[in-house]
Amino acid sequence: MHSFQYHHGELYCEQVPVSRIAKELGTPCYIYSHETLIRHFHAYDSAFKNIPHVIAFAMKANSNLAILRLMAREGSGVDIVSGGELYRALKAGVPASKIVFAGVGKTPGEIRDALNANILMFNAESSAELHALNQVADEVGKKARIALRINPDIDPKTHPYISTGLKKSKFGIAADRAVEDFVLAASMSHIDVVGVHAHIGSQLTDVAPFTAALKKVVSLIETLQERGLNIRYLNIGGGLGITYSDEKPPLPQDLSDAILPLVQGLKITLVMEPGRVIVGNAGILVTKAMYLKEGETKSFVIVDAAMNDLIRPSLYEAYHDVRPVNEEAGRRPKHTVDIVGPVCESGDFLAKDRSLPVVKAGELLAVMSAGAYGFVMASNYNSRPRVPEVLVREGEFHIIRERERYEDLIRGEQIPSFLSTME
Ligand SMILES: *Cc1c(COP(=O)(O)O)cnc(C)c1O
Repeated sequence: MHSFQYHHGELYCEQVPVSRIAKELGTPCYIYSHETLIRHFHAYDSAFKNIPHVIAFAMKANSNLAILRLMAREGSGVDIVSGGELYRALKAGVPASKIVFAGVGKTPGEIRDALNANILMFNAESSAELHALNQVADEVGKKARIALRINPDIDPKTHPYISTGLKKSKFGIAADRAVEDFVLAASMSHIDVVGVHAHIGSQLTDVAPFTAALKKVVSLIETLQERGLNIRYLNIGGGLGITYSDEKPPLPQDLSDAILPLVQGLKITLVMEPGRVIVGNAGILVTKAMYLKEGETKSFVIVDAAMNDLIRPSLYEAYHDVRPVNEEAGRRPKHTVDIVGPVCESGDFLAKDRSLPVVKAGELLAVMSAGAYGFVMASNYNSRPRVPEVLVREGEFHIIRERERYEDLIRGEQIPSFLSTME
């Protein structure tokens, strides 16, 4: 995370002290580094410069309009998983010709909107969905370009909740049934079969599952091409892992070195859907220590951020490094603490059993690697307004989402007339 560094004993994002942002906006808040986002995108993009490719940033990882605009200006497309994401992507100016649409439960309305926008393609996940795509395309008088998502039955050795390419998974269609479904798709009047898609999971820290899955996909593509299907796109999904603590994931260049030899003979355009690897280490969540509490067997630091702001620790037992914003703290003796939020759930923690310099009340802490699956998974649980998002560029910072107010919490709620009086 080289855009988040200590200078003169203080954590900075690029050239802005984190404490300055916290002072002006309050805590908690998310802070993203512009420079890091650009660098990560280009590391991925340039690793694949020797093959025609489209990068479709998996916007579910971070869908703020400013982030999407920034990515689109660098040449990125997006991978969407809902009509809401289509709406955001178009508002941000992402060209429809670089939008791909994944997900097992696309509704007819979502399909219609995406067809009308003329997106690059749908990643279809079942034969039932193919029928729905064909029917809606017929209704709107268009042809739906599709890739079929294959489930290559590869164990990505990641957390079960973010593993998607096993036989028992709800995603994609079994590799051994795939030819049948491709032939079915090709026979449909309003479907144009253009590609094969495989995404096997997230936070992969080894290239081996990628290449194992790809070998299955490549042999399928060869079979399909022999059968006369014009397969022009191979979508390898996203999933490249990042360093949260001591993982050593492959770099985009390592992935490219492993993959290109397998696909170069195929005459296809590669589509890739990186999410976490672009934004994960481009963002932090800043929180303030409020109370210190010595329990019977544990010590707690109670901070003002909670599971509703960052759910990854509660949901996946994910590890996020936590650092004091003021490095002077590093000279204090260490103690082992749980860092917990104010939400009324035992599952509300950001970090457990961490050895940290003795934290003082009022001190700022940075929860690192929070740019992906952070704010986007935030909720209003416990009626907590969602926190602001800030984009830092060199020496300036820009609010890209305001802190919610109490009025925002009740927007759209109504008391029916039979309850209109207090009697
Ligand atoms: C979530 C997802 C991605 C992105 O995964 P990352 O691990 O964030 O790179 C890409 N493609 C599909 C289909 C996904 O569901």
